[in-house]
Amino acid sequence: MKLVFATNNLNKLKEVQEMLPNSIELLSLKDISCFDEIDETETTLEGNAKLKADYITNKFGYNCFADDTGLEVESLDGKPGVYSARFAGEPANSEKNMQKLLIDLENKSNKKAQFRTTVALNIDDKKFLFEGICKGEILTQKQGEKGFGYDPIFKPKGYQKSFAEMSSTAKNKISHRGIAIQKLVAFLKNY
Ligand code: IMP
Repeated sequence: MKLVFATNNLNKLKEVQEMLPNSIELLSLKDISCFDEIDETETTLEGNAKLKADYITNKFGYNCFADDTGLEVESLDGKPGVYSARFAGEPANSEKNMQKLLIDLENKSNKKAQFRTTVALNIDDKKFLFEGICKGEILTQKQGEKGFGYDPIFKPKGYQKSFAEMSSTAKNKISHRGIAIQKLVAFLKNY
Protein backbone atom coordinates (compact mmCIF):
# COMPACT_ATOMS: atom_id res chain seq x y z
CA MET A 1 0.00 0.00 0.00
CA LYS A 2 1.18 3.52 -0.78
CA LEU A 3 0.75 5.95 2.09
CA VAL A 4 1.60 9.65 2.02
CA PHE A 5 3.19 11.31 5.04
CA ALA A 6 2.22 14.97 4.58
CA THR A 7 5.68 16.33 5.31
CA ASN A 8 8.75 17.61 3.51
CA ASN A 9 10.98 16.62 6.39
CA LEU A 10 12.97 13.70 4.99
CA ASN A 11 14.38 12.80 8.42
CA LYS A 12 10.87 12.29 9.79
CA LEU A 13 9.94 10.31 6.68
CA LYS A 14 12.95 7.98 6.91
CA GLU A 15 12.43 7.43 10.61
CA VAL A 16 8.80 6.36 10.13
CA GLN A 17 9.53 4.24 7.03
CA GLU A 18 12.06 2.23 9.05
CA MET A 19 9.36 1.41 11.61
CA LEU A 20 6.83 0.22 9.01
CA PRO A 21 6.47 -3.20 7.36
CA ASN A 22 7.76 -3.38 3.76
CA SER A 23 4.20 -3.75 2.51
CA ILE A 24 3.66 -0.05 3.24
CA GLU A 25 5.49 2.35 0.93
CA LEU A 26 5.74 5.79 2.46
CA LEU A 27 5.63 8.77 0.08
CA SER A 28 6.58 12.37 0.83
CA LEU A 29 4.77 15.41 -0.57
CA LYS A 30 7.58 15.78 -3.10
CA ASP A 31 7.11 12.14 -4.18
CA ILE A 32 3.52 12.95 -5.21
CA SER A 33 4.58 16.30 -6.75
CA CYS A 34 2.71 18.32 -4.17
CA PHE A 35 4.51 21.64 -3.79
CA ASP A 36 1.54 23.51 -2.35
CA GLU A 37 1.89 25.56 0.80
CA ILE A 38 -0.69 24.01 3.15
CA ASP A 39 -1.57 26.77 5.61
CA GLU A 40 -2.13 25.57 9.16
CA THR A 41 -5.15 27.78 9.85
CA GLU A 42 -6.90 25.73 12.55
CA THR A 43 -6.73 26.61 16.25
CA THR A 44 -5.97 23.11 17.55
CA LEU A 45 -3.27 20.53 16.86
CA GLU A 46 -5.96 18.00 15.88
CA GLY A 47 -7.52 20.52 13.49
CA ASN A 48 -4.24 21.25 11.73
CA ALA A 49 -3.25 17.58 11.46
CA LYS A 50 -6.67 16.76 9.95
CA LEU A 51 -6.52 19.76 7.65
CA LYS A 52 -3.19 18.63 6.17
CA ALA A 53 -4.22 14.97 5.78
CA ASP A 54 -7.60 15.95 4.26
CA TYR A 55 -5.96 18.35 1.81
CA ILE A 56 -3.82 15.54 0.36
CA THR A 57 -6.56 12.91 0.33
CA ASN A 58 -9.08 15.27 -1.26
CA LYS A 59 -6.75 16.72 -3.87
CA PHE A 60 -4.54 13.71 -4.69
CA GLY A 61 -6.69 10.74 -3.62
CA TYR A 62 -4.01 9.06 -1.48
CA ASN A 63 -4.28 7.44 1.91
CA CYS A 64 -2.38 9.91 4.03
CA PHE A 65 -1.33 10.91 7.52
CA ALA A 66 -0.14 14.23 8.90
CA ASP A 67 1.19 15.34 12.26
CA ASP A 68 1.12 18.52 14.29
CA THR A 69 2.97 19.22 17.52
CA GLY A 70 2.83 21.86 20.23
CA LEU A 71 4.50 22.64 23.53
CA GLU A 72 1.88 23.18 26.24
CA VAL A 73 3.02 25.04 29.35
CA GLU A 74 0.81 24.64 32.42
CA SER A 75 1.26 28.08 33.97
CA LEU A 76 0.68 29.74 30.58
CA ASP A 77 -2.70 28.02 30.13
CA GLY A 78 -1.33 25.62 27.52
CA LYS A 79 0.54 28.19 25.46
CA PRO A 80 2.36 28.29 23.06
CA GLY A 81 0.47 25.13 22.02
CA VAL A 82 -0.65 25.15 18.41
CA TYR A 83 1.36 28.38 17.90
CA SER A 84 4.69 26.89 19.08
CA ALA A 85 6.58 27.42 15.81
CA ARG A 86 5.83 31.17 15.77
CA PHE A 87 5.56 31.95 19.49
CA ALA A 88 7.87 35.00 19.15
CA GLY A 89 6.29 36.08 15.84
CA GLU A 90 7.13 35.75 12.15
CA PRO A 91 9.36 34.40 10.74
CA ALA A 92 9.56 31.24 12.86
CA ASN A 93 12.75 31.34 14.94
CA SER A 94 13.61 28.77 17.61
CA GLU A 95 16.13 30.97 19.46
CA LYS A 96 13.60 33.80 19.81
CA ASN A 97 10.84 31.37 20.80
CA MET A 98 13.01 29.95 23.60
CA GLN A 99 14.04 33.41 24.80
CA LYS A 100 10.40 34.52 24.96
CA LEU A 101 9.38 31.40 26.87
CA LEU A 102 12.23 31.77 29.38
CA ILE A 103 11.21 35.39 30.01
CA ASP A 104 7.50 34.56 30.29
CA LEU A 105 8.32 31.91 32.90
CA GLU A 106 10.93 33.91 34.85
CA ASN A 107 8.60 34.70 37.73
CA LYS A 108 6.55 31.52 37.65
CA SER A 109 7.40 28.69 40.03
CA ASN A 110 5.35 26.14 38.08
CA LYS A 111 7.51 25.16 35.08
CA LYS A 112 5.52 22.03 34.14
CA ALA A 113 5.04 21.51 30.42
CA GLN A 114 4.26 18.82 27.91
CA PHE A 115 4.88 18.26 24.23
CA ARG A 116 1.83 16.87 22.46
CA THR A 117 1.69 15.41 18.95
CA THR A 118 -1.45 14.49 17.10
CA VAL A 119 -1.40 12.34 13.98
CA ALA A 120 -4.41 12.32 11.66
CA LEU A 121 -4.73 9.31 9.37
CA ASN A 122 -7.04 8.99 6.38
CA ILE A 123 -7.19 5.42 5.15
CA ASP A 124 -9.75 3.83 2.79
CA ASP A 125 -12.32 6.58 3.50
CA LYS A 126 -11.92 6.20 7.27
CA LYS A 127 -10.31 8.70 9.64
CA PHE A 128 -8.26 8.01 12.77
CA LEU A 129 -6.39 10.16 15.30
CA PHE A 130 -3.37 9.18 17.39
CA GLU A 131 -1.81 11.18 20.21
CA GLY A 132 1.57 11.17 21.93
CA ILE A 133 2.40 13.15 25.06
CA CYS A 134 5.77 13.71 26.72
CA LYS A 135 5.55 15.40 30.13
CA GLY A 136 8.37 17.40 31.63
CA GLU A 137 9.43 20.89 32.62
CA ILE A 138 10.95 24.02 31.18
CA LEU A 139 14.50 24.68 32.40
CA THR A 140 15.65 28.14 33.47
CA GLN A 141 18.37 28.21 30.81
CA LYS A 142 19.39 26.33 27.69
CA GLN A 143 21.20 23.00 28.08
CA GLY A 144 22.67 20.97 25.21
CA GLU A 145 23.25 21.41 21.51
CA LYS A 146 21.33 18.60 19.82
CA GLY A 147 17.82 18.47 18.43
CA PHE A 148 15.73 21.43 17.31
CA GLY A 149 12.98 23.80 18.41
CA TYR A 150 12.58 23.96 22.20
CA ASP A 151 14.80 20.93 22.88
CA PRO A 152 17.50 22.83 24.87
CA ILE A 153 14.98 24.11 27.44
CA PHE A 154 12.77 21.00 27.82
CA LYS A 155 13.64 18.33 30.39
CA PRO A 156 11.46 15.21 30.18
CA LYS A 157 10.04 13.90 33.48
CA GLY A 158 12.28 11.32 35.16
CA TYR A 159 15.43 12.40 33.30
CA GLN A 160 18.27 14.68 34.33
CA LYS A 161 18.98 15.83 30.77
CA SER A 162 17.27 18.18 28.36
CA PHE A 163 16.07 16.78 25.01
CA ALA A 164 19.04 18.60 23.46
CA GLU A 165 21.45 16.50 25.53
CA MET A 166 19.96 13.18 24.34
CA SER A 167 20.76 11.19 21.21
CA SER A 168 17.95 11.21 18.67
CA THR A 169 17.42 7.47 19.32
CA ALA A 170 17.00 8.04 23.05
CA LYS A 171 14.71 11.02 22.46
CA ASN A 172 12.54 9.19 19.90
CA LYS A 173 11.82 6.39 22.38
CA ILE A 174 10.16 8.73 24.87
CA SER A 175 9.13 11.73 22.79
CA HIS A 176 5.59 12.90 22.00
CA ARG A 177 6.14 12.32 18.25
CA GLY A 178 7.80 8.95 18.87
CA ILE A 179 4.83 7.80 20.97
CA ALA A 180 2.21 9.03 18.47
CA ILE A 181 4.09 7.40 15.58
CA GLN A 182 4.48 4.12 17.53
CA LYS A 183 0.67 4.09 17.96
CA LEU A 184 0.18 4.77 14.24
CA VAL A 185 2.65 2.04 13.28
CA ALA A 186 1.01 -0.52 15.61
CA PHE A 187 -2.34 0.32 14.02
CA LEU A 188 -1.00 0.00 10.46
CA LYS A 189 0.72 -3.32 11.21
CA ASN A 190 -2.64 -4.80 12.22
CA TYR A 191 -4.65 -3.12 9.48
P1 IMP B 1 5.63 20.60 14.04
O1 IMP B 1 4.14 20.50 14.10
O2 IMP B 1 6.31 19.27 14.13
O3 IMP B 1 6.09 21.43 12.86
O4 IMP B 1 6.08 21.39 15.36
C1 IMP B 1 5.70 22.74 15.61
C2 IMP B 1 6.75 23.42 16.47
O5 IMP B 1 6.82 22.79 17.76
C3 IMP B 1 8.16 23.34 15.91
O6 IMP B 1 8.43 24.42 15.06
C4 IMP B 1 9.01 23.42 17.18
O7 IMP B 1 9.17 24.76 17.58
C5 IMP B 1 8.16 22.71 18.20
N1 IMP B 1 8.52 21.29 18.30
C6 IMP B 1 7.87 20.23 17.75
N2 IMP B 1 8.46 19.07 18.08
C7 IMP B 1 9.52 19.40 18.85
C8 IMP B 1 10.52 18.63 19.50
O8 IMP B 1 10.58 17.38 19.42
N3 IMP B 1 11.44 19.33 20.20
C9 IMP B 1 11.43 20.68 20.32
N4 IMP B 1 10.53 21.44 19.72
C10 IMP B 1 9.56 20.81 19.00
